[in-house]
Amino acid sequence: MKTDSRLDEREAMVTTIIANVRATAHLTGKTHLSDRVIDAMRAVPRHDFIPPEFSANAYFDTALPIPYDQTISQPFIVALMTELLTPGPDDRILEVGTGSGYQAAVLAEIVKHVYSIELLDTLATTAQTRLRAMGYENISVTAGDGYNGWPEFAPYDGIIVTAVAKSVPEPLKQQLKPGGTMVLPLGSGLRQELTIIRKNAQSEFEQSSVLRVSFVPLKHKDLEKST
Ligand code: SAH
Repeated sequence: MKTDSRLDEREAMVTTIIANVRATAHLTGKTHLSDRVIDAMRAVPRHDFIPPEFSANAYFDTALPIPYDQTISQPFIVALMTELLTPGPDDRILEVGTGSGYQAAVLAEIVKHVYSIELLDTLATTAQTRLRAMGYENISVTAGDGYNGWPEFAPYDGIIVTAVAKSVPEPLKQQLKPGGTMVLPLGSGLRQELTIIRKNAQSEFEQSSVLRVSFVPLKHKDLEKST
């Protein structure tokens, strides 16, 4: 899973992420990242997930384009969302929006298994092939509409959505374990808030907003009517 090239750049990226976490602590409630998240950000070779023409920018703390007008998220946001999910080594996590597979790889460094669903067939296949070639055996990728979750392996200890919707998809709420956490952007256009949803033991939901963010839309037939 580890390639040793560009280690120094990755270390510099981690330093920037840590500084950004500190700078936003008043909004996120997180003054620092846990060691397991830092180690995961150090381990995953982001340059292997992006188009070659952007390779030089791989370790800048910015989002970058990937095929089909989609994006690989800013490393700080990947780290923050991972931290907010509070993943543990025995967890099974659902990701909606595989994209390049980078966020899935970061999670796979920490948890037992990542189930990731991507709407666009070609992106799903490319990510799956890439992750296999890199040696990740604890990530399953499928092509489909993640609005409906991935019922086959539900319930999940945590759910992360990397595309924005106006409201939390009902199937995802159902597929979250009681005691589990979901992290997702909510809103549309320029008004998007990174949001944490907690489902308690009585299956009641508690929601809190963390930070303004910018994600591509979660596509779903019922959502398009309202956007
Ligand atoms: N997590 C990705 C970045 C995701 S960009 C990474 O680390 O690279 C958002 C992705 O969500 C895009 O690839 C887009 O095609 C996908 N997407 C949009 N609507 C979706 C849906 N309904 N179900 C699954 N994936 C969706």
